[in-house]
Amino acid sequence: MKTSALGRIALAAGVAALTTGVLPTTAHAEGSKVERKTLLVMVEFSDASFLDADAVKASTPDTYFGTKKDSLASFFTEVSRGQYTTVPAVEEGVVGPITLPMTAAGCDYNQINKLTQEALSTRGLVRDEDYESLSVVFPAQKTGCAWAGLGSVPGPYTWINLHGTAGGLGVVGHEFGHNLGLGHQGRSMCTDGDLVDCTTDGTSAKSLMGGGGPAAGFSAPEMIRAGWLSGSEAVKVDASGTYTLRSLHGEGSGTRALDIPMGEDRLVVEYRHAAGTLDADIEGVHAYRVPKDAYGSSSLIDMTEANKTAGNDASADADAITAVTDTASKVSVAVVSSGDGKAVVQVALDGEKLSAGTATTETATPHPEHTGTDTDAGDGNGEADGTEAKSGGSVPAEGSASTASGNGSSADLAATGGSAATVPLAAAGAALVAAGGVALVVMRRRKRA
Ligand SMILES: [Zn+2]
Repeated sequence: MKTSALGRIALAAGVAALTTGVLPTTAHAEGSKVERKTLLVMVEFSDASFLDADAVKASTPDTYFGTKKDSLASFFTEVSRGQYTTVPAVEEGVVGPITLPMTAAGCDYNQINKLTQEALSTRGLVRDEDYESLSVVFPAQKTGCAWAGLGSVPGPYTWINLHGTAGGLGVVGHEFGHNLGLGHQGRSMCTDGDLVDCTTDGTSAKSLMGGGGPAAGFSAPEMIRAGWLSGSEAVKVDASGTYTLRSLHGEGSGTRALDIPMGEDRLVVEYRHAAGTLDADIEGVHAYRVPKDAYGSSSLIDMTEANKTAGNDASADADAITAVTDTASKVSVAVVSSGDGKAVVQVALDGEKLSAGTATTETATPHPEHTGTDTDAGDGNGEADGTEAKSGGSVPAEGSASTASGNGSSADLAATGGSAATVPLAAAGAALVAAGGVALVVMRRRKRA
């Protein structure tokens, strides 16, 4: 961790009075609902200011905490079904702008983080006491950052390299997904029907962490990682049988995911169907490979040639599975029926034959491993030391995010964020997650030809 004495000197000179009201420290007051106290801070540089700081200050808190449907708080509340949300750490919703004693060039996000925390400390705002997550928003025009947003894996830090006056949920939600311990969700193409023969290609389009935009929410393995599916909702399959799934998202009860052993990995099966603001364009049964219990690093299994994305014309169920076999672990899954909000799925373990059977969802023994909520997801050391953040290397020209509103192309997936908050690098994402405490980059996707 770099140190600098400049910070305190300049801040002592620059901060006249403590005017920020700190909210009571009741982060987890409401039953089991996690209310993540998030401190939103606008910072500027000695040589770069927001083009319209008042506009940023007026609009940004609403992106994080507002009641509008595309706010971060609304997104988390809906996806977690009321188990998790973000709340402002200060009454005003945002602190700043604070001018940091550093220049913008070089995109030194570690230094931005350090100096911001020093400035906050001067104002009486201390991490883990006054806030649990820290999101720093700064003007992009001189930073040279190759990303629109950055998040530590897991939390508690996010950086928003802001063009214009308003960040969108597509970027902010994605970065906060990283804070929950989620990597990028890629896609495994297994078009010959056997999971022993797959190639990594593209993104899942089933998650905000996989190019699906906010309208995809999170996928089943990510929901498990976040602790948002109970043991009866994410059933750990330990015997062959026939299972009935309800949709992954939406209110109500029932089994939302099957968590199947597959050698050292897991095979997670979900049924997606429109619910609330989610999954209007996702339908059918989908499966994910989870490497060695790393539920935050799953990849979609795609047996089709559909190349479904969140932006192309492929039908909602274009890449849904009908049958999956892994000859290595002798696991087979077959979809008996799918549609109208439910699916029936057969699972055969240990090389047993798939056969019609009675639904065993009710009799399957739920295991309690998934019942805990991931309240500590952002409480790791969280140091964003990740020099890997720049390992993406070749950033497309449009990766400089010079147009925050996006170009409206089919590759611009985020519905509201204006930036397709995804990196089509699943392997890199998984590696970064495995390393822990590092940062991942959000790049804008290269426009498809
Ligand atoms: Zn990312």
